[in-house]
Amino acid sequence: MGDHAIVIGGSLAGLCAARVMSDFYDRVTIYERDALPDRPDNRTAVPQGRHVHLLMARGAAEFEELFPGLLDDMVAAGVPKLANRPDCIHFGAAGHLLGTNTTLKREFTAYVPSRPHLEWQIRERALALPNVDLVHASVAELRYVAHEQRVTGVLLEAGDPASVVTADLVVDATGRGTRLPAWLDQWGFGRPTEDTVDVGIDYATHRVRIPADAIVEKVVVAGASREHPVGLGMLLYEDGLWSATSFGTGKVAPPKSFADICDVADDLLPPHLSGALRAGEPVGDMAFHKYPASRWRRYDKMDRFPAGVIPFGDAVVSFNPTYGQGMTMTSIQARNLRSVLESGKADIAGELSRATKKTTWPVWTMNAIGDVALHNATADDAPWWYLVVGNLFEQFLSAAETDADLAEWFLRRFSLLDSLYMVPDAKTLGRTVRHNMGLLLSEKYGRAKTYVRSKRANYSARDRDPVPSR
Ligand SMILES: Cc1cc2nc3c(=O)[nH]c(=O)nc-3n(C[C@H](O)[C@H](O)[C@H](O)COP(=O)(O)OP(=O)(O)OC[C@H]3O[C@@H](n4cnc5c(N)ncnc54)[C@H](O)[C@@H]3O)c2cc1C
Repeated sequence: MGDHAIVIGGSLAGLCAARVMSDFYDRVTIYERDALPDRPDNRTAVPQGRHVHLLMARGAAEFEELFPGLLDDMVAAGVPKLANRPDCIHFGAAGHLLGTNTTLKREFTAYVPSRPHLEWQIRERALALPNVDLVHASVAELRYVAHEQRVTGVLLEAGDPASVVTADLVVDATGRGTRLPAWLDQWGFGRPTEDTVDVGIDYATHRVRIPADAIVEKVVVAGASREHPVGLGMLLYEDGLWSATSFGTGKVAPPKSFADICDVADDLLPPHLSGALRAGEPVGDMAFHKYPASRWRRYDKMDRFPAGVIPFGDAVVSFNPTYGQGMTMTSIQARNLRSVLESGKADIAGELSRATKKTTWPVWTMNAIGDVALHNATADDAPWWYLVVGNLFEQFLSAAETDADLAEWFLRRFSLLDSLYMVPDAKTLGRTVRHNMGLLLSEKYGRAKTYVRSKRANYSARDRDPVPSR
């Protein structure tokens, strides 16, 4: 499609974009302003890397397709792999503990790399491509030719004429802080409108050493709920340390110390997990991160857009991080980019914006519903039906506590497998209603505990995982 493509930003999105474009352009140059470590490590420009990052099962599959061999190499490097081992997952959503301690009917494999490890693995692979280079430099601005209405390259921070680099296509993968909207405005295109959800999330994370045999689970998620606006995620990473992230939602303050994180765990987790955390040895310092709002820049709604440039990754949409979808949604944007480039259509930016709108909308909308209905978030123009759907969804989650099929359905959709739409079909809805009606009637006649116990017993006897249990 051309001689040279430039990617601004060498983080996850930039690396994925470079991988795709290496199949369509003779040369791809990534410009990254941050000094990149030569081993998996945190870096200044990606402060979120110090906090728990869940890699969704769908994201793992997409990254593997982009970089074959990635998953095996991660496992060889010590990244935990949960191959249909649901006893390795403690999964709570909006205050409901889902019945995942069973053999799932369909294969479910998850990988648990830390954010720095995943980025390092992907960077090694992207830079091993013969036509991809990474240059440590900051891009000051885009080179825009007004009479052609086209971006023709970038101007590097050094500022002298020699620092102008031309390209057929420039990808903006500079993350949430992108300056593209301001440049578009300056060139006369106006800014994209923005959809935002004020989630008011505040992260606090501590790394912890917990003896290897103290916990069977490798992934512990206890999402925030109406009753508990502070949630918790604990993941076991490749270096054998746990990352324990606690987060306040709806502007509720997060823990300030490791002891505070343990208090949250006491409230949200069963004693074998909270006890193991409390007995663990905290390592290093606490890390904090504020995430005030999810933001979707609606490039798809712009009437006019210059040629030669595309926004990508978090620069387009950044999702509520507590749902763990950002990296996976970036991998889906990479799939969209490949389809657009394969189509050979000239309007690359327009085609990509429309494709990304289609894949973003269902996930964005369901998140917004959960945020507004269950997590005290606010969103401009949130339609009235958000609350109705949120309440109905809570009914579904409550049924999924004791119905293995519903729990599996949720786990797969939450992992962005099967479909990006979190909408139960008629059969699944019917099952939910029947289940909750059974519970309601039993409650009415004083037999609720027996009903739940019998459901749990059926469910465990039928599906008990043959691996050694806790
Ligand atoms: C607290 C938190 C927790 C998260 N948890 C999860 C999770 O559990 N699961 C998940 O999938 N996702 C999670 N995410 C989202 C995930 O981190 C991002 O989706 C992912 O990093 C992709 O981001 P990106 O590459 O678009 O941008 P970034 O990672 O922000 O990278 C942007 C890059 O551009 C570079 N750059 C910027 N400006 C310039 C310039 N002018 N010149 C050169 N380089 C430049 C920066 O140095 C940086 O390297 C979380 C996010 C946050 C904030």
